[in-house]
Amino acid sequence: MKITRVRSRVVDMPLTGDFHPAWARGRNQTNLLLVVIEVETDAGITGIGAAHAGLEAAVAIERFVAPYFIGQDPTCIEPLAAVLRDAEILGPPLYCMEIPLWDILGKLAGVPVYKFWGGFSDRVTAYCATAEIRSPEQRVDDVHGLLADGYRAVKLRFHQPDPREDLKTVEAIRAAVGDRIAIMVDANQAGIEPGFGGHRPWGFQRAFEVALELERLGVVWLEEPLARHDYAGLARLRARLSRLKLAGGEDNHGLHEFKLLLDLDCYDILQPDVLLSEGIFQVRKISALAEAANREVAPHTWGNGIGLLANLHLAASIPNCPYFEFPHDPPSGFTLHTRDQMLRAPLTIDSDGMVRVPDAAGFGFELDEERIERYTVQRFG
Ligand SMILES: [Mg+2]
Repeated sequence: MKITRVRSRVVDMPLTGDFHPAWARGRNQTNLLLVVIEVETDAGITGIGAAHAGLEAAVAIERFVAPYFIGQDPTCIEPLAAVLRDAEILGPPLYCMEIPLWDILGKLAGVPVYKFWGGFSDRVTAYCATAEIRSPEQRVDDVHGLLADGYRAVKLRFHQPDPREDLKTVEAIRAAVGDRIAIMVDANQAGIEPGFGGHRPWGFQRAFEVALELERLGVVWLEEPLARHDYAGLARLRARLSRLKLAGGEDNHGLHEFKLLLDLDCYDILQPDVLLSEGIFQVRKISALAEAANREVAPHTWGNGIGLLANLHLAASIPNCPYFEFPHDPPSGFTLHTRDQMLRAPLTIDSDGMVRVPDAAGFGFELDEERIERYTVQRFG
């Protein structure tokens, strides 16, 4: 089998209302930008993927990937993954380009990709990943709604100038619903969008004080409490905690850096993203390193429905994924419906609060072609 064509469409989709992600202070996100990628073969099988990016990724795919992919066997993926590592030296991360290759291989074999890799489970417990800063009263209302919808876990953002204000939200939720919902906290200290004022880095002392409070409140994990390369600070913080886990890694890169994060005891839970951190099969290797170190992996998934589904296959294939990030923050403009609007149906949770992996061959992407065409702004290939 040979790759005959690489097609990219830059798609600019609307959100349904205001959306103020905590990690980008002052920005109202009004759209969802992605690149829908198709890799065609002479066997008539087409692999699908998507970049959590815009025009810059489409240009880089055309320039740094397509010339090396066309004419190659899409089922020999390791040598093509090396092309993607090389491409990142010159342009934006293009690890998303490995997704269509596994989609082709899964379709050829007639099995879902997660089963191809051992199929640990056909479902993973979701945590509802919220993004906005809201009042404690509003978040208590939100959590009542999430519990009614079947969620068993929720992630909150800590971004206020004084984190004691953020802690009030956790206290209010605990007072209202007790232990009926697991709580995670993301401080996003490892990666703040540049260009927006008002971010105050926590530093070790603040991270430690917040962590002790979260431990007292029975929070599952604290995510990104420190800068992404502060390996020594993360290890020192982790060594001082007993029950609260530290999670992170969404802004770290590659097999070697994740090995470093494990070797230096920075995190209990690694959070690579199969679109951003390295290729999806390298992330499987990262998961194996974590397994050997008695650590867990909970992939970062924030972006679009195609990336979410690819991360879900990875999560369901490994034995050490405790929770799956499920971005959804109603009533803002970013919900599971806007997140997955490029698919014919959104991924949802079942009555046990779990996300099931589709049983179709490959990743099971079913594109809403009409909607993608309506919002396509540029084409390549
Ligand atoms: Mg995060």
